[in-house]
Amino acid sequence: MRKKLIAGNWKMHHTVAGCLGYLDKFLPAISSSTDVDILLAPSYTALYPVGQKLAGHRVKLCAQNLYFKDSGAFTGEISVAMLKECACEAVIVGHSERRHVFGETDELIQEKVNAGVTGGLQVIFCIGETGAEREAGQTSEVIHRQLEQGLSGISNDMCDQLTIAYEPVWAIGTGVNATPEQAEEVHSDIRQWMGSRFGEPVAGATRIIYGGSVKPGNSAELLSKVEIDGLLVGSASLDPDSFCAIIQNLQ
Ligand code: PEP
Repeated sequence: MRKKLIAGNWKMHHTVAGCLGYLDKFLPAISSSTDVDILLAPSYTALYPVGQKLAGHRVKLCAQNLYFKDSGAFTGEISVAMLKECACEAVIVGHSERRHVFGETDELIQEKVNAGVTGGLQVIFCIGETGAEREAGQTSEVIHRQLEQGLSGISNDMCDQLTIAYEPVWAIGTGVNATPEQAEEVHSDIRQWMGSRFGEPVAGATRIIYGGSVKPGNSAELLSKVEIDGLLVGSASLDPDSFCAIIQNLQ
């Protein structure tokens, strides 16, 4: 049985003071929701203070990105060791904004997946098709290419550090979510691909979560699908009440 995972991606929102104020409201509010893993991904500057505040708490800290080198002349970048020093246990890799706004390629993303996993982080590996690719009937082809390239350095024994996030680009930040049926169809496709690449036991154990305009009003229906093992939430995670409602909808 795969435990559900709900992750909040705060993107470039919330100052340190904003994050700490959020946690003052959020942590007491979710204390009864025990049967779910929860991740919060604040901006880099807030990682350390948020990590301090989460010490000993079941909510875990997640970074929004990393660079794959250990150290060196890479202005503006951050390494796995630096993230772990802030108490990060997880990292998002391959988010559509990294791919489409910052031009990250499948090759770079593959280096990042490897660095995160070998460095001991949980990697939330994001994949998803654009609206044009979906309309052209290329969803499966795109998803398979992203999986093939992004996971080309991953072996079976590393897969327990991997969560796959299906995030259709056309659903991110648009208010238009994939229907539970559309999401389930792609999740099944991803699980089949995982089975052919890593074998059925790994495919059956890997969490595949959905992201794209998740709100308190649609989260329960999405989570009712057997293939949807959790949610990656952007906008609706920015407000502690709405993120808490999404978590409580699981119960
Ligand atoms: C995201 O950025 O991962 C995301 C899913 O955003 P939103 O929930 O705002 O669509």
